[in-house]
This record gives sequence, C-alpha cells and structure tokens, in this order.
Amino acid sequence: MSRPVPAVFGSVFHAEMPVIAFQNGAWQPVEWQSSQDLTLAPGAHALHYGSECFEGLKAFRQADGKIVMFRPTANIARMQQSADILHLPKPEAEAFLDALIELVKRAADEIPDAPAALYLRPTLIGTDPIIGKAGAPSDTALLYILASPVGDYFKVGSPVKILVETENIRCAPHMGRVKCGGNYASAMPWVLKAKAEYGASQVLFCPNGDVQETGASNFILINGNELITKPLTDEFLHGVTRDSVLTVAKDLGYKVTERNFTVSELKAAIENGAEAVLTGTAAVISPVTSFIFEGQEVEVKSQERGNALRKAITDIQFGLAEDKYGWLV
Ligand code: PMP
Repeated sequence: MSRPVPAVFGSVFHAEMPVIAFQNGAWQPVEWQSSQDLTLAPGAHALHYGSECFEGLKAFRQADGKIVMFRPTANIARMQQSADILHLPKPEAEAFLDALIELVKRAADEIPDAPAALYLRPTLIGTDPIIGKAGAPSDTALLYILASPVGDYFKVGSPVKILVETENIRCAPHMGRVKCGGNYASAMPWVLKAKAEYGASQVLFCPNGDVQETGASNFILINGNELITKPLTDEFLHGVTRDSVLTVAKDLGYKVTERNFTVSELKAAIENGAEAVLTGTAAVISPVTSFIFEGQEVEVKSQERGNALRKAITDIQFGLAEDKYGWLV
C-alpha cells in the first residue's frame, strides 16, 4: 500500500486528536475529538495573551513495518519547560506519552514510507475566558496533539541559502528556549524579508555577530573534524536534533565544542572549506549550500560531512542502524 505524502508540509491531519484538559487544578482524563475544529471562548487567554506553546516530533515507519517515535520524552520535557516559563499548567509526562503512543497507533495507516514521516504537534493553550488577565496566568488549559503525514521540509538536494542577519533578533532573549508561537511571529518580518529580497531559504540570527539559530532550526558549523555550536543559553531553542547530532558526532570521532562564535569566524571558516548544517525535526539535518554575508553570497564548498551526519541520524530513525542510545519509542 502506498501512502500519499501531502504536497504542503503540515496541511493534512489525522481525523482525531487526543485532548487533555486542565481544570479545577488538575489534569483530566484524555478525550478524543475531531481534529477539524476546536471550541474555544473568544476571550480565551491564549488568543489574547499568548499563553501558547507547542512541540514538534516525528514517528517513522521502519523497513520491517515497525513504527517508532524519535525521542518523545525529550519533547515532553521541553514542553514542560515551556509551560513553566509561560506559567501554564505543566503536562504530566506519563499521560502525555500515552496520548502520543495511542495517537500514533490510530494514525499508523497514514504514516508514509521513509523518508517521509508522521509529524506530531502537541499544543498547549491557556483557556481562561477572561480578558482581564493581562499579566496574569491562565488557570485552565488544553493540551491537544495533531498528527500530520509529512515529506521533507527542505527538499533533499535543493539549495539551502541562508541570509546572515546581524542586526535583528529572533525573539526576546529570555524567551528563546520557549517553543511558543509568539517567537515565530517575532521572527517573521526578518524571515519574509530574507525570502523576498534575497531568495534565501532561512535567516541565521546573529545579533551583534553572535551566531545563534535560524527561524526554524539550530545551527552547527562543521570545521574539519570539529562541530561548533552555541552553548545552551536562554536565547535560543534547545533542539532535540541538535543534541542528537552532537551525541552521534562524538561517537563518530568528531570533536564537539559548545561555545559562542562570531559571524567573522563563521565566514572565514566557510571560505576555508568548512561545512554547516541546520538541525531540526522538520529540517532533519540540512547542509547549507550558501550564505549571504552583508549582501555577498559565499558558497559552501562541501556538504559531505553534513550529509553523513544526516544519514547517521536517519539510519537510527528508520531502523537501519542500531538504536544504541535508546532514542526510539
Ligand atoms: N530552533 C527553532 C527556532 C526551531 O523552530 C526548531 C524546530 N523545532 C529548532 C531550533 C530545532 O528543534 P528540534 O531539533 O527539537 O526540532
């Protein structure tokens, strides 16, 4: 049976979704609802004061037919952290994982074959119907999970052209590690500008020259045998893929260095033959093909190491390599 991959990433959903409500100070049992619509008070807290965060992870159909999720507990932990910072009720890990597993089971027939996958989008929103709550947390919330069959976010082999942005920041520095919709709204002007004015695929945010992340992925410089990436600060999202790549790379004999580095260092390294990759659940591991530094395009000469790292991760996801870190559920 061949399962279709929708042409537009994230445009098709499994018919139902698990919904877990937080009411009267407690998480309620899961309910299954249509994923077509959601009934919400127009005054709901999330719609006015941005009490919203989400996650993105994938389930894969392996060659032998087995279906697995990649590191779901890492995404659950990150949503718990986002919830904490947004003063939303913190989802319970066990019920959350159970809902993910049940959803993947129910949507199993819709999971396309490799390299496509089932993208899972847990979403947590504050639902208090009280518009007087500016600056006060929502006491009620909903956690629901969408499931969407997806292909590649960046088509393999197509150019990945990155505009280096040194003036503007992606989001408020203390919110970077929160996976909330507001951060994507904040980044949108610069992402749209990069696409419209430079034909770029994404923006690499480097405020005051500090190389951070793009609008939808983390960023790793591969200089010879060394991977260099920014250490975990509050300013950017702590990607599960970033962590996975660093772990696998160490085992493959790379030196992994988490330190701040500047645009001038990045530019010099790229001109001297270094590679660079974007890492993220949707982007997987996408080698950069060129950068635009102050209007000047600089080609990245090789994508070889980036592609090898991508294969090392996707081989684990698709069951072609041993899951020695216990990442698959
Ligand atoms: N940074 C941003 C801004 C992102 O949107 C993403 C994708 N979720 C990432 C980094 C990478 O995170 P992950 O590897 O967990 O998908």
